[in-house]
Amino acid sequence: MKCAVCNEKIEQTFLEKIKGTFVKKKPVCNACQKKYSKEEILKKI
Ligand SMILES: [Zn+2]
Repeated sequence: MKCAVCNEKIEQTFLEKIKGTFVKKKPVCNACQKKYSKEEILKKI
């Protein structure tokens, strides 16, 4: 699974949860969550 913002691979835990979140059903990594505000992420995806 790749981050919808930076296109980097998002790691998954053993429970297949991603180390990130979903915004409008698109995966966003932790780094981008820290880097950008929610409004900025919405513009980028
Ligand atoms: Zn990212």
